[in-house]
Amino acid sequence: MLLSSKDVWSELRAKVEDISGTKLSSCYQCGKCSAGCPMADLMDIPPHKVIRYLQIGLGEKVLRSNTMWFCAACFTCESRCPKSVDLSRVMEALRAVILREGKSFVDPCSLPVEVLGGAPQQGLVSGFRKYTG
Ligand code: SF4
Ligand code: SF4
Repeated sequence: MLLSSKDVWSELRAKVEDISGTKLSSCYQCGKCSAGCPMADLMDIPPHKVIRYLQIGLGEKVLRSNTMWFCAACFTCESRCPKSVDLSRVMEALRAVILREGKSFVDPCSLPVEVLGGAPQQGLVSGFRKYTG
């Protein structure tokens, strides 16, 4: 059976494409992004699969993963991608979708006092911007 883009359309995919400015259908699953990603071992879903799940309407599975929170925005994937898919922007868009719902990946109140007291202030602020809604 052939699937059309209408069959696999999802609101999440449309949102991610809109926020990231990236056309997800460009990806042809060569896997070069995941092969070079320094954080892939820590991710529930490797970068190329994130794109595949979004392409076929399984984005909710991605939203339940830790993948976008572990992306270090190092741009290795983009530099290796033969189709110029900007995965770091896709990861950022996924985080934005969650944070805009007021959800957080990290609860600042649950951080130990020694972390809050000992970490550099700039690091804490940038961490809160990335991980809290
Ligand atoms: S490198 Fe680009 S084309 Fe290849 S799987 Fe990753 S995003 Fe898709
Ligand atoms: S930008 Fe994110 S997904 Fe891409 S290689 Fe770096 S850590 Fe991996």
